[in-house]
Amino acid sequence: MLSLFNRFNNKQFDAAALEMQIKRLMEDEDVSNKRGIYEYVLTGDERCLNIRTFSDKMKREAYERQNGVCVHCKKAFDIAKMEGDHLTPWSRGGATLAENCQRLCKDCNRKKAGK
Ligand SMILES: [Zn+2]
Repeated sequence: MLSLFNRFNNKQFDAAALEMQIKRLMEDEDVSNKRGIYEYVLTGDERCLNIRTFSDKMKREAYERQNGVCVHCKKAFDIAKMEGDHLTPWSRGGATLAENCQRLCKDCNRKKAGK
């Protein structure tokens, strides 16, 4: 922890804003690795937080809502051939909830990730 702060000590941080951000992340149910919060606010690397993924139930709900059709290519797929995707990315305030889950076929999801 100390080494991290040392690494960034030449950067100016707004202590109050930082504290608020940390508090918000602590309360965010999607952040499954609370110990990674400090590293995240310093580095901006979302992987530190281990953001919660959609449960099977959420994914099934989204699949049924879409009638098994990929929202991008409009083709029907088997549930096992589709992947869950945040409609609004977590970094922009989208929570890991059924309402924010969409199903993409693996090809479309890969293309989206590659953007
Ligand atoms: Zn597709």
